[in-house]
Amino acid sequence: MTRKEIAALAHARGFAGVFFLRPTNLAPIWLTLCRGACPPHTQGLCLNPALAHPAANCVLLLVRAYTPFAAESYLPGYYIASNAGYFAVKALIRTLAAQGHYARHIEVPLIALARQANIGTLCKNALLDIPPFGTRTALFTVAIDLAASDTLANDLIANNVIANGAIANGMTGVAAPYPVRHNCAGCRDCADACPAQAIDPAAGLLAHKCLRNFMEKDALPPWVMARVTGLLGCERCMAACRRNRHIGIRQATGAESAAFDLKRLLWENIAPARSLVGKNMATGKRLTAQAAVIAAHRKRTDLLPDIKRLTTHEHPAVRHAAIWARNRLDQ
Ligand code: SF4
Ligand code: SF4
Repeated sequence: MTRKEIAALAHARGFAGVFFLRPTNLAPIWLTLCRGACPPHTQGLCLNPALAHPAANCVLLLVRAYTPFAAESYLPGYYIASNAGYFAVKALIRTLAAQGHYARHIEVPLIALARQANIGTLCKNALLDIPPFGTRTALFTVAIDLAASDTLANDLIANNVIANGAIANGMTGVAAPYPVRHNCAGCRDCADACPAQAIDPAAGLLAHKCLRNFMEKDALPPWVMARVTGLLGCERCMAACRRNRHIGIRQATGAESAAFDLKRLLWENIAPARSLVGKNMATGKRLTAQAAVIAAHRKRTDLLPDIKRLTTHEHPAVRHAAIWARNRLDQ
């Protein structure tokens, strides 16, 4: 299949942007970005797709752009998009394989990949702004073989328009090659909006303070419970960022609202939520514990009996969150 045909398939699966990148050894740039100390959760990443997948001659970078919920919503907009994107990648790979392609889902250090390919901007909050999608994206990578005749030059195909200058540029806000639309220098909107003071306007993200790094754990420290206002993650810096102002917001569907209903989660009925965010995010008692915390922040005294019930729960994460929430609501 040609790049245009592959991009059309990806678009049909809900990916707004598709980059075709040369596989390269990302280790040097990744180690430089990590200053030699890569975070533990990145240890399993594929640093050299060229070496790990010799049958592939291209890395597809798939951009799942999403429209967030309103800033005051507690629903996990990113994880809903990410989970849908994960299944769309699997479906795309099945289709490509059926067409005779080598296609494997790989997990690379995305910041290194983007830096190497000169794509987008690494922002102060350590997220990637890939114009025109902003930082409201879930990103996926696939190692694939392209026909030798289909020359590769680090192209973006978005909405079926190759935006690398030569063919066409029909997208608002996209010009060849990938413009840096804003510079973070001088801006401190995300730093001011961060409830955890995790963004230093000069130094960037202080990862040990970022709430995102705690939300995938079952037990939340009290200082995190005091600051987090959304299930599974925090998107405050993205909501404040001028890079995302063109994106707008969306209403939750009825199914989404019902799945994340706090009373439902407090009663450990998490199957509908799990179907939306995936079993990895809805693991353990995480959603139930976090529902108690969110209920307290939202002053849901009507849920106090449900929360008190959990203060003797056998799972420590639920118990501690329920006690914290009860104390908040009892004040
Ligand atoms: S995700 Fe939340 S805690 Fe982390 S930097 Fe952004 S606003 Fe701060
Ligand atoms: S809010 Fe400002 S400093 Fe923060 S990521 Fe956006 S542009 Fe950069």
